[in-house]
Amino acid sequence: MRRKSLKDAGLKITHPRMCILRVLQNNRNRHLTADGIYRRLAESGEEIGLATVYRVLNQFESSGLVEKHNFEGGQAYYELDDGQHHDHMVCLETGKVIEFVSEEIEAAQRKIAEEHGYDIENHSLVIYVRPSKK
Ligand SMILES: [Zn+2]
Repeated sequence: MRRKSLKDAGLKITHPRMCILRVLQNNRNRHLTADGIYRRLAESGEEIGLATVYRVLNQFESSGLVEKHNFEGGQAYYELDDGQHHDHMVCLETGKVIEFVSEEIEAAQRKIAEEHGYDIENHSLVIYVRPSKK
């Protein structure tokens, strides 16, 4: 997995861009909302406003540095675009985002597209879940 830099993305290095990229890179949970990024910056003493966070995230998105997900009924989530395909599960109770890759699902999708005379160009699958009651 290759980490893209601001330069690779054709963006000039600025302090807010550096800080926001660092938050995205160092975050264990790879999916963050603009709010979450803003809070992490504030916690680490960086005074970067929410409007700037949104602006930088839009720039990151247009330059292919991050991927934006508009999951149902919540805020948009951002993650670094590492070029690795994966699908998502979103918990409706906690908002937690879980990544997964299933070769079976990938193969089934290819088969379905094929049966209809198509090749898959791209797909996104989101499963909305709740913690199982056990
Ligand atoms: Zn993801």
